[in-house]
Amino acid sequence: MTKPERVLKYCPRCGSKRFNFQGVHSFLCDNCELHYFINSSAAVAALIENEKGELLLTVRAFEPHKGMLDLPGGFVDINETVEDAVTREIKEELNLDVTEVKFIASCPNEYVYSGYSVYTCDMGFLCSVSGWENLLVQDDVTGIELVSRENIDWDKIGAESIKKIIRAYWNG
Ligand SMILES: [Zn+2]
Repeated sequence: MTKPERVLKYCPRCGSKRFNFQGVHSFLCDNCELHYFINSSAAVAALIENEKGELLLTVRAFEPHKGMLDLPGGFVDINETVEDAVTREIKEELNLDVTEVKFIASCPNEYVYSGYSVYTCDMGFLCSVSGWENLLVQDDVTGIELVSRENIDWDKIGAESIKKIIRAYWNG
């Protein structure tokens, strides 16, 4: 019920109800001929390790998956590179300064927010940070957990795409 073809009923340009889903990727307005595409939104996730090799997971403050674990990250803004996006998100959520980013793996995801499915391409980056002294949990994060391959509880992680990115990194 949250997918675009169930939620979007009117053409966003002319307001016509003759706004028809074309299947999979797009809508076409019979009135003004707007061809409206549903694309994948770029999103970033950061893999940050401490000196013991433990991975930093965040506790989500909001739905979807409120209270569950996640990698820090978020959506890429318009006119922003993915490298800048992951650096900005880590500053916003954890007050840490990213010094280096390395792409690890990506995974498609369907992110349901305010009753609407946003399709994303979640991109995981291994991030180096300048230090952990300034770590401050804020923004859409309420806490952190440090996990290792031995003690990670996969059931506490909300998004399948995030599990896949962590597994890709550890199996890499
Ligand atoms: Zn229209």
